[in-house]
Amino acid sequence: MKQYAQTYIDGSWQGFDPLASLDLKDSFTEQPFAHIALAGAAQVQLAVAAARRAFDGWSGTPLEQRAQFLRRIGANLAKQAEPLAEQITREVGMPLKLSRRIQVNAPAGAWESYAQLAGQMEYASQIGHSLVTQEPVGIVACITPWNYPLHQMTAKVAPALAAGCVVVLKPSELAPAAAYALAQAVHESGLPPGVFNLVVGAGNVAGEALAAHPDVDMVSFTGSTAAGKRVAGIAADGVKRVALELGGKSASIVLPGADLALAMRHALGACFLNSGQTCTAITRLLVPADRYDECARLLQEGAASFAMGDPMESGTRLGPLVSGQQRDRVQDYIAQALAAGATSITSRAILPPHGYFVAPTVLGGVHPDSAIAQEEVFGPVLAVIAYQSEEEAIAIANHSNYGLAAAVWGADRGHALAVAKRLRAGQIDINGAAFNPLAPFGGFKHSGVGRENGAFGIKEFLEPRAIQLPA
Ligand code: NAD
Repeated sequence: MKQYAQTYIDGSWQGFDPLASLDLKDSFTEQPFAHIALAGAAQVQLAVAAARRAFDGWSGTPLEQRAQFLRRIGANLAKQAEPLAEQITREVGMPLKLSRRIQVNAPAGAWESYAQLAGQMEYASQIGHSLVTQEPVGIVACITPWNYPLHQMTAKVAPALAAGCVVVLKPSELAPAAAYALAQAVHESGLPPGVFNLVVGAGNVAGEALAAHPDVDMVSFTGSTAAGKRVAGIAADGVKRVALELGGKSASIVLPGADLALAMRHALGACFLNSGQTCTAITRLLVPADRYDECARLLQEGAASFAMGDPMESGTRLGPLVSGQQRDRVQDYIAQALAAGATSITSRAILPPHGYFVAPTVLGGVHPDSAIAQEEVFGPVLAVIAYQSEEEAIAIANHSNYGLAAAVWGADRGHALAVAKRLRAGQIDINGAAFNPLAPFGGFKHSGVGRENGAFGIKEFLEPRAIQLPA
């Protein structure tokens, strides 16, 4: 059984008296596999104090030296890639072959990318008689979720350090392996004490203590919209800068004339990745009413190819969900949707004998106002909505409190682009175009505030300062 019982503060691993502890269960075997001691406000105090002491030195360190530390941290993470991918698979259920690539190798490689980008950005400019410089915001509290743990930490910690900020990380208590691996990679890189600190604790205890701490200058939060609102409210009291990456209920519009076979295949992949535990999962599929039957047939056939099973096995396409609680929540959403008049397009599948599985599910005849079309489910559930006209499709796609991602499929690229420009979402793929890790990532409406990734991600941690120069 793995033991996670320390904080990483001021450059060293430290024991503490836990406020509580948690046993994590393997998402497939359902057996306990890790024990976590939860820290509280006392450890947050120590971590913020260490960060405060480290700030002047780190923000004054030449950029090229800061970039070298980032490179070393990324290389150290890559050395732990295989055991880390296995741990994350146990925690969240993603098939191991995907975890290697998406959960570990991509974020480990992103540290090098931030190091390069930081060197290419402009930190000083002249506007009339003013010298305008970009200064690090200060102490950043990074609060992250469990579904892509290393990616979400990297998207905050790497650009914050590159910008000259110091960090206290409070990862999800449900998927701690990546946070401990990151702290170890930081330790081995020789980063000066206090520049990076790790406190693992419950959101409503350690997370709130961080968001409220008067010495924290910025809170960068990724997680549910409900927790994000709470964190933003607490941070507002201290007039802190807040960045929020929250939930989604993203829509794909399939225009008449689109390659249906390709669009349906992508729709299933974009919804079922990580068993639907993805903030950008495309969970609403809008299809022309006169092609609904054809789409339904393709979706039924395609969903059957998502083999459930042991996520460590190479033949598994759909792993279990993170916990029994999450599985029950998703099953409740499906039952409610069927009771509200939706129909099941997918045939009944046989679940593996253990593991927190939800079968790949495609629901048809979904009403755009219903809970299954409006609320984030975080499971492998695709809601299909038929539309009569393009105007109606755009209105349905935008009929959501969320605005994180979207997709458009069409035979004519220019037409698809025109439709994409009318969607209120932060990132939109046309005809299955690939994710771009350098493009800004973030949400409209209740999906968040601010942008991560690439140069936009570094700018989040910079504060402009104008110095008026005498003639
Ligand atoms: P969550 O909101 O429960 O927890 C996220 C983090 O916030 C955890 O570290 C948690 O401990 C902490 N937290 C919870 N309550 C808090 C509070 N009151 N004060 C301070 N911190 C608190 O989310 P989750 O279940 O870990 O992750 C799933 C959610 O995250 C989904 O809604 C998903 O859409 C969202 N998400 C968004 C993005 C994005 O980039 N937009 C990416 C991944 C996940």
